[in-house]
Amino acid sequence: MKQFDRSSAAYNKAVDLMPGGVNSPVRAFNSVNMDPIFMEKGKGSKLYDLDGNEFIDYVLSFGPLILGHADEKVVESLKKVTEQGTSFGTPTEIENHLAELVIERVPSIEMLRMVNSGTEATMSALRVARGYTGRDKILKFEGNYHGHGDSLLIKAGSGVATLGLPDSPGVPASIAQNTITVPYNDLESVRYVFEQYGDDLAAVIIEPVSGNMGVVPPQDGFLQELRELTENNGTVLIFDEVMTGFRVGYHSAQGHFGVTPDMTCLGKVIGGGLPVGAYGGKRRIMERVAPVGDIYQAGTLSGNPLAMTAGYETVSSMTEEAYEGINKKVDRLIEGYEEAAKANNIPLTVNRAGSMVGFFFTNDPVIDFETANASNLEMFTRYYQGMIEEGIYLPPSQFEGLFLSTKHTEEDIEKTIRAAEKVFASL
Ligand code: PLP
Repeated sequence: MKQFDRSSAAYNKAVDLMPGGVNSPVRAFNSVNMDPIFMEKGKGSKLYDLDGNEFIDYVLSFGPLILGHADEKVVESLKKVTEQGTSFGTPTEIENHLAELVIERVPSIEMLRMVNSGTEATMSALRVARGYTGRDKILKFEGNYHGHGDSLLIKAGSGVATLGLPDSPGVPASIAQNTITVPYNDLESVRYVFEQYGDDLAAVIIEPVSGNMGVVPPQDGFLQELRELTENNGTVLIFDEVMTGFRVGYHSAQGHFGVTPDMTCLGKVIGGGLPVGAYGGKRRIMERVAPVGDIYQAGTLSGNPLAMTAGYETVSSMTEEAYEGINKKVDRLIEGYEEAAKANNIPLTVNRAGSMVGFFFTNDPVIDFETANASNLEMFTRYYQGMIEEGIYLPPSQFEGLFLSTKHTEEDIEKTIRAAEKVFASL
């Protein structure tokens, strides 16, 4: 049995200092019935905890570390930049470098604004879409997570297409009622919303591959019809690519599916492990943002030189070949899991888009929040605990996808498959 004495001591102290002992809820491991493991360092595909346990990491800080931990180029550049000062409150050239790279790679982005997190990116994009259209209502999809801004922390009411209800105390009902929620992949409900509320619909915001109810890709034609409906209605289509951006592929999810939205939100990979978000889109929309335009949005540390450097080194290292390399490892991981599940009579559905992959303990297709919730969560918890014991660090919830990096080796993948075989046999 692995020992977690030092992690336990740190956790016991932390719970007095921070709610749940953590600075972001999913880290508390509540949904897998464990105490969180306190990490000390990471290198490549590996994480090492306070007690010296080694793990193959499939969380990668919930997505950003596509080059793995402590990539040499990222670390070297960060050292150099840090010595020159950490923040100036002025523009710097490195902001141009990352902006140019993002504009070159992401089809919808002609101009962008850097911010400090994915939450800030989606909040700001919504403000811009509302200011640009002069409308108030937005449409989002059940099970999609867009950060914790008031307009987006909304759960569906009962019924097919519903005005939203606050998902948390503190979100005013008056804000929630401007957010309409429909099931993911459900075009009929989307069409109904356009008929009912079209005149006041500022934006449709969507994860083009859903990554926050486990991985759920869009069905054929879904994104295409969203594009048509929004275009015809003068509604801004926003792809929240905070997770999928530079993860699903070289041109992000919009390039992968060939659908270009009006605006895109980014985060995670474009910060290479430092706090970054960005939102961008058509020039005529982005030129409404202050100081050129009248829609206000700002940030003391936005475009921070350290964050821009880590982001630039990360995104510029991700060549087409680098994505192919990750995809091949994902192919093998899926093949191994499917064989292990079959051999042990484990119900398993695999969803995937590029290197985004999610495993669900169910034999039924997972296409939306309801079907994702039908998977066996109790089995997931036992599987999770077993994998930790085998030295495999997975996202601590059935509703998070796995992430791979360029540093994961074939040996890591084979070791993970062998661990899954052993744990499946014990379930
Ligand atoms: N949008 C998506 C799709 C996300 O997955 C997340 C975070 O997981 C966010 C927005 C919020 O980003 P952040 O946690 O950086 O605020």
